[in-house]
Amino acid sequence: MNRSDKFFNDALKLFPGGVNSPARAIKPYPFYVREARGSKLYSVDDTEYIDYSLGFGPLILGHGDQRVMKTVVEQLKKGWLYGAPYEAEIRLAKKIRRYFPAIETMRFVNSGTEATMNAIRVARGYTGKRKIIKFEGNYHGSHDNVLVKAGSSALTFSIPTSEGVLEEIVKYTLVAPYNNLEVVEKISSDNADDLAAIIVEPIAANMGLVPPEKDFLKGLREIADKYDALLIFDEVITGFRVAMGGAQEYYGIEADLTTLGKVIGGGFPIGLYGGRREFMEEVTPLGKVHNAGTFNAHPISMVAGLKTIDILEKTQALEKASETALKVSEYMKELIEEYGVKAVVNRIESMFQIFFSKKRVENFKDVNSSDKKLYLKYHRMMMDKGVYMAPSQFETCFTSSAHSDDDLKKTFKALEDVLKGCR
Ligand code: PLP
Repeated sequence: MNRSDKFFNDALKLFPGGVNSPARAIKPYPFYVREARGSKLYSVDDTEYIDYSLGFGPLILGHGDQRVMKTVVEQLKKGWLYGAPYEAEIRLAKKIRRYFPAIETMRFVNSGTEATMNAIRVARGYTGKRKIIKFEGNYHGSHDNVLVKAGSSALTFSIPTSEGVLEEIVKYTLVAPYNNLEVVEKISSDNADDLAAIIVEPIAANMGLVPPEKDFLKGLREIADKYDALLIFDEVITGFRVAMGGAQEYYGIEADLTTLGKVIGGGFPIGLYGGRREFMEEVTPLGKVHNAGTFNAHPISMVAGLKTIDILEKTQALEKASETALKVSEYMKELIEEYGVKAVVNRIESMFQIFFSKKRVENFKDVNSSDKKLYLKYHRMMMDKGVYMAPSQFETCFTSSAHSDDDLKKTFKALEDVLKGCR
């Protein structure tokens, strides 16, 4: 038994399923991390992995970036929790506003989950309406409003995806297929008097990676306007990754409310929701839509986020990360062709994912009908070759500015060996 296996046996007695977040429960047991540096994770069993999961997205500069570390250490010397305002939150907010013009005012929270929960609350508070539309296969965190999937008929009812979530709550969350404007229009017109918001991942990165089809986001913008609902872009993953200004800059479409997280905290816990002043004026203490948090705008997350964005501004980090993802995905496509593997690869900037599917993957149904078992086999075989891809078909692979040419060479070699066996 190796050390990871031994730790996991202990953990099974302490945590449900042995883990503190379900995506970490890789089979047969997760590796325990000894440390992480640059593009690499090192396990307690002395295995080295080139990491394409990167903490599920935040680490655009890779692990343990020295410049971020120095800033964090300087901050630690000044204390790390004040329960009072701190100048760094103003600086970070100004930076964010520079790249997201749709965010006039904002609130810092501690996670993407809190961000979307609060954005939905603001939309309801502002519009005085109750219902929201979300998309099949989009993930907005782990709160009751969004733990919902379509019933057998997407147009009639929704069902909770978790025990403990009340049907009475999820009946206000209407679920539509991604990339299908017709259904969104129909649901919106059927619920016109009570539609508070449409919430969407503008690039779906929680069902592998599924890009929006041409005009999908523009269509959502028009439908939201037509029915006086707020359009919420959940840019927890895409913000400061696909472009500094996220999918809104990338596609040239503005949301009413935006949620951010991940990259803006430089790898420390963070979330943010914001939008036009008139919407955000609903939030306490100015308005009556409640939000509060002991750790909101945590000084460490503020300075780590500031430093990260500062580095993104002054270097070619985003471009470098995108180039790496481009090279990996193009090489995957070459191998797929050469070996006759039934697979497709989706990529946008520094995010990519392979699907073992014969046809294009455009929505949740397509993802679900790809060979998910084969994905897990591929993932395990890549791990055996020292490459840690996204641990599930429903996650996305990320690249960072820390991935090197040498990493690419090793990744190519691993892909060549592994994809041959995935026919
Ligand atoms: N929104 C999106 C698009 C996400 O990908 C995630 C997490 O992966 C969340 C929200 C929730 O963020 P957190 O895990 O920080 O609560």
